[in-house]
Amino acid sequence: MADRISCDICMDLIPLVRDGIASEDSRAAVEEHIKDCAGCRAAFEESSPAPEPEKAEVLLGKIRSRARIGMSMLLMFGMLFGISLTEGTDMFANSIIMPLLGVLGYILFRWRSLYLMPVLLFATSAAGFLLGMLKGIDAGDSASLLIWAGLYSLFAAAGSVAAGLMHFALRKEKNDDEKAA
Ligand SMILES: [Zn+2]
Repeated sequence: MADRISCDICMDLIPLVRDGIASEDSRAAVEEHIKDCAGCRAAFEESSPAPEPEKAEVLLGKIRSRARIGMSMLLMFGMLFGISLTEGTDMFANSIIMPLLGVLGYILFRWRSLYLMPVLLFATSAAGFLLGMLKGIDAGDSASLLIWAGLYSLFAAAGSVAAGLMHFALRKEKNDDEKAA
């Protein structure tokens, strides 16, 4: 059993305990001491932000993964919306929507977006094509969805490339700043 320690010793040990470098005896002594000493307990509690960065890290990770889920949903929704406009009067909007989706794709997938976006666009269009067939829409009309998917892929690729070049330029600028500093 650890001997009782004075407040001064306890205060000296608290930083060591917090940093996890105190011996087992010291840690036990501090824990024993702060059970009965409100002053040292307050000091100990104030000085134990050690797990905070980890928490912040976890939180940041959670926010990032939520943001990713949100962006993925936005991507899917945008794709469905854009494809649903096909052959309607508003389909010119896709010349804006698709590059924006390409930017989103780059944020989510980096350069993989260049092949993932066409895959997703064709898959979504193919689903629309099958749905159209089931609904009895003329197969020829539905098939044009697949042709448009090719064009949309090009638009999306343009967005991805623009985002990628921007990202590259910003990163280079940052590196240059760091070198200059
Ligand atoms: Zn004390």
